[in-house]
Amino acid sequence: MFKKIVILTGAGISAESGIPVFRSETGLWEQERVEDVATYEGFARNARKVHDFYNKMRKSIRTKEPNPAHLALTRLQSEYAQKFAADVTIVTQNIDDLHEKAGSKDVIHMHGELNSILCEHCLGRYEYHDDSSSDTECSLCGHKALRPDIVWFGEMPYQMELIEKKLFDCDLFISIGTSGVVYPAAGFCSVAKSTGAYCVEFNLEKSAVASNFTRGIYGKASVTVPAFVDELIKTGTFSEE
Ligand code: NAD
Repeated sequence: MFKKIVILTGAGISAESGIPVFRSETGLWEQERVEDVATYEGFARNARKVHDFYNKMRKSIRTKEPNPAHLALTRLQSEYAQKFAADVTIVTQNIDDLHEKAGSKDVIHMHGELNSILCEHCLGRYEYHDDSSSDTECSLCGHKALRPDIVWFGEMPYQMELIEKKLFDCDLFISIGTSGVVYPAAGFCSVAKSTGAYCVEFNLEKSAVASNFTRGIYGKASVTVPAFVDELIKTGTFSEE
């Protein structure tokens, strides 16, 4: 049985909840250039546009609900962890709140969160659900220096030290719905594998780093993940086919 499990989730786990993945034709991301809305340079050029982009996204996730894949991970964190005295950590690249809505605890949002705001003056971060703009005062220091609490391209993801420790320590690493092209997350499997972890990828198709994984399970996450988790909770392990 597995005692230390790390799960990495990406946009694919939320796709069936109606949140478009990064590289889709229907998503907000497709209507804007990444350099404009997901880099600091873009924010410095046009802060209003960037605030508006994330305001729209923050609003759009309000009505979205977790799907069976999110709910299965919550069962892994509660039922499996309790039954087998295991440690189950969820690390997500997602900026939505569907793991939290599903009841998962202590989720590490390595790329930040829509429902959080960051003050460039005091560097405080706090829960935030309203629209923001360059005129919004920070409720911690009063300065008008807020930015979306999103890790943009070229910035350092949050909690990397803790994540690396968990990866080196884990005996099972699971990656769900991520294309494997955004680093450092794309390299997590290699780190976990270097100390002997069993690594499983869930996706619709092979990701860019599929060959690093011990095993790949392909299909809709809402179907494949609950089936895998149910077996894990029942037996402490899973069949190899
Ligand atoms: P990505 O969009 O690059 O890739 C999504 C992956 O999910 C693809 O490999 C796709 O094949 C797979 N996928 C799609 N539907 C699936 C399903 N139903 N079941 C299983 N797999 C499915 O996403 P990424 O690798 O997470 O990187 C994108 C970046 O964009 C992340 O850093 C993230 O912060 C951001 N983003 C976040 C959200 C969100 O919060 N929900 C949405 C879009 C983008």
